[in-house]
Amino acid sequence: MSNEKIWLSSPHMGGSEINYINSAFEQNWIAPLGPNVNGFEEDLKNYLQSYNSGDSSLEVAALSSGTAAIHLALVLLGVKNGDEVLCQSMTFAASANPIMYLGATPVFVDSEEETLNICPIQLEIAIKDRISKGKKPKAIIAVHLYGMPYKVEEIQRISEEYDIPVIEDSAEALGSKYKGMKCGTFGRFSILSFNGNKIITTSGGGALVTNSLEAKKKAVFLATQARDEAPHYQHSHVGYNYRLSNISAGIGRGQMEVLDKRVEARRDMFQFYVNLFRTVDGVKVFEEPSEDYFSNHWLSVIEIDETKSNGLQREDLRKCLESKNIESRPLWKPMHMQPIFTDYPFYGTGVAEKKFENGLCLPSGSNLNEVDRERIKQAILGCLK
Ligand SMILES: *Cc1c(COP(=O)(O)O)cnc(C)c1O
Repeated sequence: MSNEKIWLSSPHMGGSEINYINSAFEQNWIAPLGPNVNGFEEDLKNYLQSYNSGDSSLEVAALSSGTAAIHLALVLLGVKNGDEVLCQSMTFAASANPIMYLGATPVFVDSEEETLNICPIQLEIAIKDRISKGKKPKAIIAVHLYGMPYKVEEIQRISEEYDIPVIEDSAEALGSKYKGMKCGTFGRFSILSFNGNKIITTSGGGALVTNSLEAKKKAVFLATQARDEAPHYQHSHVGYNYRLSNISAGIGRGQMEVLDKRVEARRDMFQFYVNLFRTVDGVKVFEEPSEDYFSNHWLSVIEIDETKSNGLQREDLRKCLESKNIESRPLWKPMHMQPIFTDYPFYGTGVAEKKFENGLCLPSGSNLNEVDRERIKQAILGCLK
C-alpha cells in the first residue's frame, strides 16, 4: 500500500478551471478585474440566493482573501480605534486579526456545546457587561466552525435586541444551511474564503456578501485603493489593494461548477467516520444537533472522552496517525488562550478550552478515494488498539 501523505483538506480541481484561466490569457485580462471576477461574483450570488427566496438584493464582492473581507466589513461598519468588537473565541486567528488592524479591542466569547460556535448566553452576558462598563460593542463576529452553522436565530435575536450588527464568518461554511437557508446570507455582512484548504479554492481569495448594492460599491471602492472620480489619482479615504485577480476568479468559476459535488463528498467522508467510530467507546463524531442544521462538514471532527477511551488522549491519536503519514489537527486553539490575545476580555465557562483539549480534526478532503479511506480506517483502528 502506498504511504503517500494524506492531508486534512487539499485542493480539488473540477477540470474546467483551466478553461477560464485560458480565456483570461486569450483576452489579456491579467488584472485584478475582468470577466472572471464579474462572472465569479454572479455565480456566488446565484448560488447563495437559490435557497434564500426573498433575498433578491444579495450582492457579492470578490476579494483577495477572507481576512480582507472581514477587515472591509469592520471598516464599513465604522469600527475605529478604541472601539470594541465581540468575537467568537474558538476560531481561526483570521476572524480576530482585522479587529487589531483597526486598533479596536476584541472581546472574546466562549462556545456552546451543540455547534462549537459562539454561545448566545455568554454573548448576552458580555454585551450587558460591556455596556455597563460604558462601551457598547460595534459588531459581533460569529463563525460557522468546520461548516457547522452557529445558532442563527438566537444570535440574530441578540443582534436585533441590542442593535449590534453581525459579521458572519462563513469562511468554512460555503454549502452549509440553516433551516434550508444558505450560510453566507445571515449577517449584515458575511464573508467567504477560497484559501487552498477550503471546500472550494481559488488558490487564495475571499468574498464579502451584503444585502446592499451601496455597501458592495463602497467595498469595491475601498478594495481598489479608494480612487475618487478624477482624471488624476485623487484620494479622500484610506484605500486597500484587496480585489481578487481575474486569474484566481477563473479558478473560482470552475470550482463553482462542482461545489455541490464537493459538499456531497465531504458529507460522505463525515458518514465514513460516523460508521467507523460507531462501536468505539469514548470517541464521538461531532454531528448536527438537529434537522435544522445542515453542515458541509468541511472538516470532520471527533471528541475523545479519555475516561471512556482506555486513557487514550487526543494527542496520542494525532501522533499515532502522524507516524503513519496521515495528517490530523487539534481544533482551533481559542483566541483567549493565544499569547497575542491573553490581555483582552473573555466571557465564558471553559467550553472552548475543553473542546480544544479533546477534539481532533480528521482528513476530510473531497478527493480522498476508497484506497485512502481504507488506509485511514486501518490506521485509526491500529492506533486505538
Ligand atoms: C480561512 C478562514 C478565514 C480567513 O480566510 P482567508 O481567505 O484565508 O484570509 C477566516 N475565518 C475562518 C474561520 C477561516 O477558517
